[in-house]
Amino acid sequence: MPAEPAIRIDNLAKRYAPAKGANGTVTDGKLALGGVSFDVPEGSIFGLLGPNGAGKSTLINILAGLVNKTSGSVDIWGFDIDRDRRNASRSIGIVPQEIVFDPFFTPFEVLENQAGFYGIAAKLRRSEELLEAVRLADKRNAYARTLSGGMKRRLLVAKAMVHSPPILVLDEPTAGVDVDLRRQLWELVSELNREGVTVVLTTHYLEEAEELCDRIAIINHGQLIANKPTRELVDMAREKIVAVTAAADLTAAPAHEAFVRATWDGARGVEVTYDKDRLSAGQVLGILQDQGLVIEDVITREADLEDVFVQLTGGGVD
Ligand code: ADP
Ligand code: MG
Repeated sequence: MPAEPAIRIDNLAKRYAPAKGANGTVTDGKLALGGVSFDVPEGSIFGLLGPNGAGKSTLINILAGLVNKTSGSVDIWGFDIDRDRRNASRSIGIVPQEIVFDPFFTPFEVLENQAGFYGIAAKLRRSEELLEAVRLADKRNAYARTLSGGMKRRLLVAKAMVHSPPILVLDEPTAGVDVDLRRQLWELVSELNREGVTVVLTTHYLEEAEELCDRIAIINHGQLIANKPTRELVDMAREKIVAVTAAADLTAAPAHEAFVRATWDGARGVEVTYDKDRLSAGQVLGILQDQGLVIEDVITREADLEDVFVQLTGGGVD
């Protein structure tokens, strides 16, 4: 029997308020989310992937209670964010995209203050354990301003876990972060997940989503355009492409049941996508020739996750 999802997002939309320019002009409010629906399965590491401006932070900030949605509904751990904001908030820890700390607090104080904010009794606090978990025990009493960027990120993860939420959400945890730190954060996230925490992370790194996530949703211009197990997305990358230029204009796109798809540019160009476990490039060309196509030029290439992404987003990576 399928478990209840950790997060259920149903037809979620957000339009930001119209902006008023200095000369009295009013621009339309930006539609940042245009009716997005998906579930985050309990126990998963779920990747929300999309280019800059896609709407990722808007969605995360709605979960965090920092942005008000325009319409739709969201349940966090079974709690509706409108009817039961308090329990919803207690069920989720959020690591925001921007790093902000009071520079004069120490890591230990940051965690203690956060525990105080949640009304956690002194005996039940986990500050020491969390500092240990994010490898900051030796920085317990250092001023936050003296921490490196990587240490601050780790401290933010600890801060998000102070109230032991079953769900941890990280908004672009590794944007602008070096390779070593990225590895460290991946390990930390995997470790928490092994301990049972459901993880949602946003990223615009395909590689990160592929390595870490067991399910990936892709969002572009406020629309969900894919939501699949990582395995299936990677399988889409098993596809290869043969681009053929015919000797004369074609009258229709070639089609064959063995092709994944064939696209025609309306003139002499055809791109056939095929599964390399099923066909070879030579067989694809043979099929086209059998259909009467006279080949002038051929280019083949492998599809990778990047291609899948570009194909799904219509080239919107920036
Ligand atoms: P992402 O995190 O995927 O880069 P965002 O959710 O930050 O995307 O932004 C989605 C869209 O909403 C962008 O076009 C952005 O300019 C716009 N946007 C974000 N925050 C605001 C805001 N506070 N007011 C108006 N527009 C905003
Ligand atoms: Mg963002």
